[in-house]
Amino acid sequence: MSRGLVKLFIYCMVFTVSLPLWAQNTINSVRVWPSPDSTRVVFDLDDKPDFSYFMLKNPSRLVVDLEGTNKLETLPKVPSKHQLVSKLRYSKPKNKHSVRLVFELTGAIKPVIFSLAPTGPYKNRLVVDLYDRSQPSQVVTPAQTAAKKRQLNQERDIVIAIDAGHGGEDPGSIGPSGTYEKDITLQIAKRLERMIDAERGMISRMVRSGDYFVKLDTRTNRARQKKADFLVSIHADAFTSPGPNGASVWVLSLRRANSEIGKWIEDKEKHSELLGGAADVIKDAANEKYLAQALLDMSMDHSMKTGLSVADEVVKELRKVAKMHKKHPQHASLAVLKSPDIPSILVETGFISNPREEQLLKSANYQERLAKAMFTSIKNYYLRNPPDDSLFAKLKSQYPTKHKVRPGESLSMLSGRYGVSISKIKQVNKLSSNTLFIGQELDIPQG
Ligand SMILES: [Zn+2]
Repeated sequence: MSRGLVKLFIYCMVFTVSLPLWAQNTINSVRVWPSPDSTRVVFDLDDKPDFSYFMLKNPSRLVVDLEGTNKLETLPKVPSKHQLVSKLRYSKPKNKHSVRLVFELTGAIKPVIFSLAPTGPYKNRLVVDLYDRSQPSQVVTPAQTAAKKRQLNQERDIVIAIDAGHGGEDPGSIGPSGTYEKDITLQIAKRLERMIDAERGMISRMVRSGDYFVKLDTRTNRARQKKADFLVSIHADAFTSPGPNGASVWVLSLRRANSEIGKWIEDKEKHSELLGGAADVIKDAANEKYLAQALLDMSMDHSMKTGLSVADEVVKELRKVAKMHKKHPQHASLAVLKSPDIPSILVETGFISNPREEQLLKSANYQERLAKAMFTSIKNYYLRNPPDDSLFAKLKSQYPTKHKVRPGESLSMLSGRYGVSISKIKQVNKLSSNTLFIGQELDIPQG
């Protein structure tokens, strides 16, 4: 071969190999997810995106270049409720094979950009998370929380953080008829929210209130920031076969999860973490250290005991309305149950992978009963164990004492023992005569 022929041959090789790469990828759709303090924009692509980006000032813009990519003809309009992005548009690309996207921003914004591999209903994705820089940091230390709590007045409300699992880009498990776990969890969470807010002495705080993704560490941070006394995380289970069914309640365990299904759930949470984005994985190292120290703290012990007590109550209440997959609270080290200072439980409301339970979980009536079971058990726990500065503590001091009548006891004896008049005991218990029965339960009012 002459030198010229070799050159031509190499040129042809490069040309034929390179050509398909130039126009290989395609943007198929763009989704925009609103959230109160960030905006997520997701690009669905045929292949793994080859991307780079930079920021421009005055006015503030984020520019993203996608190599070897065909553009989607029309970009979605950004609704006005997206306070961080005012417009998404194309600009003149670097070369004719690439695409240049411009995000027109409303102010100081920190972008986090990463690609996600195909999972569940989604193919390759490019995720652009835009965080509002003007918002104060979400991280509040336990010490700060305790100090704030002490400043609160007496008779405060007991704060229950409600965490509806998954959301936005992360659908959670998907039922055989296409029901998304993220929708079921939010619907049940909203029912629980209404019940708690209607109860004097209790108030709810939603970790997410719409269809957007919240990172796992942000979920507990948000509960902490809202000074939650308790965190309940709501999920729906799934398995690879349609058989398994029933609800279960999970609490934090220092040891590894105590069953195979437990391990499986842990994997699923990892999965969710990956769905949520690379940022979570990177930040984990620092978090683990913080957690390891915090685990030694007494507050952890308190959190675990409280979590377990409430979990026991929730199991008892759930049994009245649902089939139980597990008859006792299960222990696991799930990310959302790792908060050392906030007692937490995770309720798997049922198996969305079971066709019958999927239909139940979708029904308003069943959702209401599940929410009611969670509400009743959390409320009962705090009625018995109210924080000192809460309204529940004040109410407890006014509650009647229960007394079970034993052989030989009379109204006058009880009147003397508790320092309450006979007529008051009769009135409170609606007694028409002075006769008591052995085993009879009486309310003894405060003297
Ligand atoms: Zn889940």
